Formats: sequence, structure tokens, C-alpha cells
Amino acid sequence: MFKQGNIIKLLGILAIPLLIASQIIILKGIWQQKDEMLYSRYRSLTQEAAASLRSSGQYIDPYDTVRIILDYASKQYADELVEIKSDSAELTSKKQDIYDYFLIALNEEQDYSAYLSGFFERMGFEKDFIHRIVINNLDIIDGDTINIYRDDSFRNFVPSFTAASHGSKSSILVQRQWFSGNNYNLNFEYYIDFSDKQKMILRETATSLAMSILSIILVVTLFIITYNNMIKEKRLSDLKTDFINNMTHELKTPLATITVAGKTLEMDKVRQNDGMILDTAKLIGKQSVHLNQLINMILEISMWERTQFELSKKPTNVTDIMNDILLSFQNGGGKTAKIDTDLRLDDISAELDTVYFTTMINNLLSNAVKYNERNPEVKVKGLVENGMVHISITDNGIGITKADQRHIFEKFYRASGGNIHKYKGLGLGLYYVKKIAEAHGGDVKLTSRPGKGSIFTVVIPC
Ligand code: ADP
Repeated sequence: MFKQGNIIKLLGILAIPLLIASQIIILKGIWQQKDEMLYSRYRSLTQEAAASLRSSGQYIDPYDTVRIILDYASKQYADELVEIKSDSAELTSKKQDIYDYFLIALNEEQDYSAYLSGFFERMGFEKDFIHRIVINNLDIIDGDTINIYRDDSFRNFVPSFTAASHGSKSSILVQRQWFSGNNYNLNFEYYIDFSDKQKMILRETATSLAMSILSIILVVTLFIITYNNMIKEKRLSDLKTDFINNMTHELKTPLATITVAGKTLEMDKVRQNDGMILDTAKLIGKQSVHLNQLINMILEISMWERTQFELSKKPTNVTDIMNDILLSFQNGGGKTAKIDTDLRLDDISAELDTVYFTTMINNLLSNAVKYNERNPEVKVKGLVENGMVHISITDNGIGITKADQRHIFEKFYRASGGNIHKYKGLGLGLYYVKKIAEAHGGDVKLTSRPGKGSIFTVVIPC
């Protein structure tokens, strides 16, 4: 069974990252697809925009201001360049100035961005974008042609030229322009980039993303639940095995005594002695009662499992019933214990099934004495708080570890520390206690420190 558990755990450990990885790959694919769709959508939109600009009756040139500025500037630069010697450092720096000036003028004085933005908005699309202008070639002409800047990858509109060579993949090349003025030749490209592109794609992929995350969460939860159930079942089956071992042990003791008593009765010496016959008969009787109790306990537990067990509750004075229980305990199993009682319950009455209630308190009292390696000292306190009766039983016994505390009320559970057969039991007493407290609409709480002792508190409505 546990080997199977390990295999399932291993499969889970392998399958979950695999599932997450496959989901990531799928999502990446969807993301890329959306990215491309967005790219081609805006690309065709910009083409439409350009066509619409050209076809509109009163054609407005979005670069008219730029052209005027560049005409004027290039004339001046041409004059200045005549003065500068070729191959000088001054020429290099001048070229840089000219390049910068052209780029700034193009970026700041064009009206193409405003036009595109308006067009996108009119068509119902995202209007915010960043534009980028890339100069491919710039010459200043003054009789001679002086090249100011030339991009190495630029080869005068060779068809293999790709937009991607100038910047990020998400940039959309909107147009290539070739301006020729009296004193300059200029070739540049105009790109747009969507600053909110990630958000736009995220919005469009939100459903797939949410479904992927949800399916991962579902599978992981399912795995955890299945695995935990398996562990629980395994623990229960271990507990059952322990229970059967304990039960056999418990049943064997009275049976062995009865067998020996039977043999004793066969002896001539004993048969002639009435006193011995009576003692042996009493012993057999006592052991039979014990056997009967054990068998009844098991029968009752299995009955509880099958049916919702029902109490016959009636209003009961809690102080009275507690005093009765304590008295018979002190005269029976609790003879060796020092029992302190502090019941501040006044005349409080609660709806109790007296038989079950007595069993519950007796179980707690006998555990307080049983799981003790000193002279047992038991304190029984009772008080009423917020409409609830609190009955606590404190012992100076061996205590219970934190790990055991979590399972102590489970059926068949016995604390594993120490010798399990040192203290006789079946691991049913506290299971009973919890069931009975709950059936009364209450609960049982435990605080304990190993080596110091335990406090079991039963809380029942009154
Ligand atoms: P049983 O006594 O038959 O084993 P219980 O259900 O009454 O079964 O108790 C379960 C386990 O809880 C015990 O095996 C014991 O280890 C631990 N236990 C219960 N009561 C006490 C206590 N007062 N002090 C220390 N350990 C306790």
C-alpha cells in the first residue's frame, strides 16, 4: 500500500511541474499569436490611415513644417561645411550636430503622429503609442554631396530590408520617406510602438490565462486531496492493525484467567473446599463481566459507525451527577488517586444522557490515573461560563506530546511513545469522550505537557 503511495507521490511530483510547463508553453503560444495579431491589426490600420490621408480631398502634408525647417537649416549647414576641412575632428562633430538636428526636427515637428492617433481613435482602437524616427541616410548638398550619416544595413530600399532591423519586434514600420531638398537628401523611417501593448495583450488573453491557472489549481488540489486521503486510509489501516493486536491482548487476559480458573475447579483439593470454589466462581464471574464489557464496547462502536447514535437526554443537576461519578470512582478504579474537587456549578442543570455522560467522565478519570507514573493527583473543576458547563480534569501524569495531541481523539489511536502494552487500552476511550461531548452539543479540549500532566476539559451547553 505504501509503495503505491510513494509511486503516486512521485507521479504527482513529476506531473504537476509538467502540467505547469505545458500550460506556460500554451500560454506563450497564445501570447505570441495575440502579439502578431495586434501587430498586423495596427499595421493594416496604419496603411488604411496613410491611404485615407492620400485620398482625402484636401491633402495635408504632415511633414510640411519639417520640410520648411530642414530646407532652411540644410542651406546653413551647407555653407558651414564648405568652411570645414575634410577629415578633421571638427567635421565629425559637425556631422553629429547635423544628424541630431535633423532627428529632433523630424521627431518634434511632424504632425503624422497626431493624425494617426486621431485615426485610431475614430476607428475605435487604442490611440496611445510612441513614435520613433530612424534616419537611414542623410546627405548635405552643396555642389558636392557630403554624406552625414548612413546606416550600414540600409541599401536603398532593397526588398530584403526588414523593419525588425531597426528596433524591437513590436515596432510597426508605418512609412519610409525620401525627402529631397535643395541642399539635402534624407531617407528615414517612421515607426510606432504601443506603450500599453502588454496590457492590451493581457486583456485579450485574460480568459485563457485564468482558465490555465484555474486548471492548475484544480489539479494540484485534487492531487493533494487524493494523496491526503490515501495517507489517512493508510493510517487508519495501521491503527486497525494496532487495535486488533491490543484487542487480542485485552481479550486474552480474562480468557486466560477463566481457563486457569476452570482448571482449578477440576482439582480435587479445590472441589472439597467451598471457600475456594466460591472465590474461583467469583473470579470467573468478574472476568466474564470484563470480557462482556470489552465485547459490548466494540459492538457499540460499530453501531455508532452505522447509525447516528442517539442520546436520551433529560435535565440533570450537573453537581449531583458529578458527585455520584466521583464517589463511585473513588471507591473503584480511583482508589489509589488523590482527587481534589472544586465544583462551582451552583444548581446548574443540563440536558444530559446520564449513562453516556458517566461513561465520558469515567473514561477521563481512569485515563488520568492510568497514564501516570507518580502518585496520581487529579483535580476536578467545574464552572459555568457563557451558558456552557466546563468540567476539567487535570492530572499529574505522563502528558501527551504535541504530535499525539492532534490524533488523540481518533478511533483506535494510542500515543506511540513508550511501551504500548505498558498501559492497557484499545484507543477507544477518548474517541468515545469526543463523540459523547459532541452528541451533547459540546466539545472536549486538551492541553498537555509531556512529563507534567494533562488537562481535559469537557464543555457542554446548559
Ligand atoms: P486507551 O486508554 O484505551 O489507549 P484512549 O482513547 O482513552 O485509549 O486514549 C488514547 C491515548 O491517549 C492513550 O493511548 C494514551 O496514550 C493517551 N492518553 C489519554 N489520556 C491520557 C492522559 N490523561 N495522560 C496521558 N496520556 C493520555
